[in-house]
Amino acid sequence: MAGLAAAEVLADRGRVVLVEPTGRWGGVLDTVRHDGWLVERSADNFLAARPEGLALVERLGLTSSLLGVDPGVRRALVFHRGHTVPVPAGFRLLAPGRPAALLTSPLLSPLGKLRVLAERVVPARAAALGDESLEHFAVRRLGREAFEGLVQPLVAGIWTADPARLSMAAACPDFLAMERSAGSLTAGEGARLRAAGRGAEGAGARYGQFVTLADGMAALPTALAERLTQLGVEFRTAAATRIAPDAHGWLVECDRGPPLRARGVVVATRTPRAAELFADVDRQLAAALGAIEYAGSAVVSLGYERSAIAHPLDAAGVVVPRNAGRKILAVSFSSAKFPGRAPAGHALVRVFVGGALDPATALLPDGPLVDLVRRELADVIGARGTPRLVQIDRWVGAMPQYHVGHLDRVALIRERLAALPGLALAGAAYEGVGIPQVIASGRAAAGAVASRRHPHSEPAVGMLDSGRVEST
Ligand SMILES: Cc1cc2nc3c(=O)[nH]c(=O)nc-3n(C[C@H](O)[C@H](O)[C@H](O)COP(=O)(O)OP(=O)(O)OC[C@H]3O[C@@H](n4cnc5c(N)ncnc54)[C@H](O)[C@@H]3O)c2cc1C
Repeated sequence: MAGLAAAEVLADRGRVVLVEPTGRWGGVLDTVRHDGWLVERSADNFLAARPEGLALVERLGLTSSLLGVDPGVRRALVFHRGHTVPVPAGFRLLAPGRPAALLTSPLLSPLGKLRVLAERVVPARAAALGDESLEHFAVRRLGREAFEGLVQPLVAGIWTADPARLSMAAACPDFLAMERSAGSLTAGEGARLRAAGRGAEGAGARYGQFVTLADGMAALPTALAERLTQLGVEFRTAAATRIAPDAHGWLVECDRGPPLRARGVVVATRTPRAAELFADVDRQLAAALGAIEYAGSAVVSLGYERSAIAHPLDAAGVVVPRNAGRKILAVSFSSAKFPGRAPAGHALVRVFVGGALDPATALLPDGPLVDLVRRELADVIGARGTPRLVQIDRWVGAMPQYHVGHLDRVALIRERLAALPGLALAGAAYEGVGIPQVIASGRAAAGAVASRRHPHSEPAVGMLDSGRVEST
């Protein structure tokens, strides 16, 4: 997605070649249809509060196919002592916006509730102390019980990360800023909710602000690739294998076809691959890229007859705390969130397992994985009987982990890149994993390449070299 977004910016500035080994566009974004079912392989929605995703949808003429999450299910549940319990009203990931709502929630003990109420008087941590982990931040402000019962499962449902390593500064800068500006999350979130009016009072994640496309998320890269084709962008099915300086810019070697000579290159692969590509250009840059770790997960999508699931499916999904002793991290109630995901009289749920803290489960063979998920689903949402649809999507090493110190690593990467005019990096590994942020990173990288092309590059572009080398 980042590479496509970069190509859109560059399309009218000369010849552009997109190099992609799989022959399909969109990277992890993919949608599968089977007889009335529509199953997302990875992302199933994106944040509408940031402008980049919606703006792209508008440019592609897809606005009429945007779908918001069904207003009746804009809340998250937590699996607690054998039941699914709503996240207390006004509680947003880390911030208790309506402390009174917590008092009646069964999720916390009386002591745990008192500790959250005391959040208001916990002093802010000095910025000079540097980055801290999300777990450290949450326990410091809300207490361990609220961290384990509420924050940890909500965070696992989003980042599949180890909260003891996840960087607050990189993953949740708005909550850090809230602590510093309002003195506490309770005060800051309360003020935010009052300013936004009653409409902002969603519980848990802000599902009211998430949207998808009627035909599924793959429609976005597919439509963009079609637009790019119309604009003359060329698509080459090949893997880039090496980047090297060239008298007129950069040489990009590929595993198929002639090398490309380019005055600018946007590298939008994951960072282990980018590190290999940059190995001969700048070893320090390659090392910094190689230091960004990835985690994997598996998404098991199961379609049932509606009557086979006892749960009312009256939420966007349920998250499962680690201390519940289950392998399931989260269950998304896909057909409750969006229309057209399951045939009439049926329900589609997507179950997330694995993540940074449990990589082995995502790698279980298909049979044992499905058995495990079905066993646990029976407990969590009362799903019985044989599912009508089973789809397993494994994402090995697909999710960049923003560990403590991530901003410093990215700053070093940017500093090294600044000395390499015409080269830029884009994608989920740097400044946000969500689709709008990934689109923004592609557009920013394209802008950097366009404005800082290689000093020796020829002014004219768009010509094919006569020999083995192509110029872009
Ligand atoms: C299971 C899952 C669920 C998610 N859910 C959501 C969600 O609901 N909402 C949301 O906003 N985000 C979600 N995300 C995150 C979001 O989908 C991703 O961060 C984003 O799509 C990543 O885009 P990207 O372009 O950075 O990387 P990728 O999609 O990883 O693309 C990298 C591309 O590089 C190509 N490539 C690899 N090697 C080479 C090479 N040598 N030469 C050329 N090309 C190469 C790959 O084939 C691929 O096409 C989810 C992610 C996952 C995995």
